[in-house]
Amino acid sequence: MAKRDYYEVLGVSKGVSEADVKKAYRRLARKLHPDVNPGDKGAQKRFQEVQEAYDVLKDVEKRRAYDRFGHAGPGFDPRAAGGPGGPGFGPGGAAGFGAAGPGFEGFHFESGDLGDLFGNLFGGGRRASSGPEPGEDLRGQIEVPFRDAVLGGTASLSLRREKECPTCEGTGRVGKTVCPTCRGEGVVAESERIKIKIPEGTLDGGTIRIPGKGGPGHRGGPPGDLYVAVRVTPHPYFERQGNDILGVVPITIKEAYAGAEIDVPTIHGTVRAKIPAGTQSRQKFRLRGKGVRDPRGGAIGDHLYSVRIMVPRTQTPAGTDAATLLDSLYEGDVRADLPKGL
Ligand SMILES: [Zn+2]
Repeated sequence: MAKRDYYEVLGVSKGVSEADVKKAYRRLARKLHPDVNPGDKGAQKRFQEVQEAYDVLKDVEKRRAYDRFGHAGPGFDPRAAGGPGGPGFGPGGAAGFGAAGPGFEGFHFESGDLGDLFGNLFGGGRRASSGPEPGEDLRGQIEVPFRDAVLGGTASLSLRREKECPTCEGTGRVGKTVCPTCRGEGVVAESERIKIKIPEGTLDGGTIRIPGKGGPGHRGGPPGDLYVAVRVTPHPYFERQGNDILGVVPITIKEAYAGAEIDVPTIHGTVRAKIPAGTQSRQKFRLRGKGVRDPRGGAIGDHLYSVRIMVPRTQTPAGTDAATLLDSLYEGDVRADLPKGL
């Protein structure tokens, strides 16, 4: 089968800018990544194709060589290409770009989580210009338990990112030869576990910025930042509504009828609270200051709970007598307020 044109693979035109090549690549890589399409062989093949096309088109020298020779040109090792000496053509000229070519080799994942995926996609690559340049910002995602999001806590994210090659200090060359450590890339990949402080009151869908944990700076530039999207795991009992927390508390018929003092669970611990005599099912109560501290400062929300009146399942003649007695105490038809003519 004929090899597709790299520009066509990325869906860009021939004169496209470096930035647009990258943009097209990111969009496709996110769509086609194996982690997003588990078991999809077609997506996997497309992903490799995209990766390979990007490896060539992102690089000024490799791209120039490709523009000139196309796929039919002399095979060369794309890793070695791109030094100031021009594209480094391999001696045999047979390497070419196979489907599982060198481009794909450079793209490994440590695990299936999205943090790793984005860490890779947004990793800093080499640039063509010559002054100091700040590193790229990286993006990741973490899942935070409800309690930690409300009260604050820590989380960790495994990130595979590129850092400046220690051997050549990012130049890609040692003296007159290609750097053996990074093979001319100027960067090497490393895995890092990053501890993230979860501020009190963190919202689902929020973003935490971690300065300096992005891609490496280039030629003395500062590193980029890491932006972590936060997904809050729903709680099996509590629900958050703005800065308030909602819950439901079961009570007995006697507690509802005669009034009582009960334990109400809140995210800050159990609170002793009064149930007034004559409490109705689904009646709502408020515990001030037992909610979420506003992440933008100061104010703290409330804990709101409603009660659910439980009816005993055990049937006895005495129970029926007691229920009959209660029945005689209603001040009229309990369904009197239902809308008519539905
Ligand atoms: Zn190096």
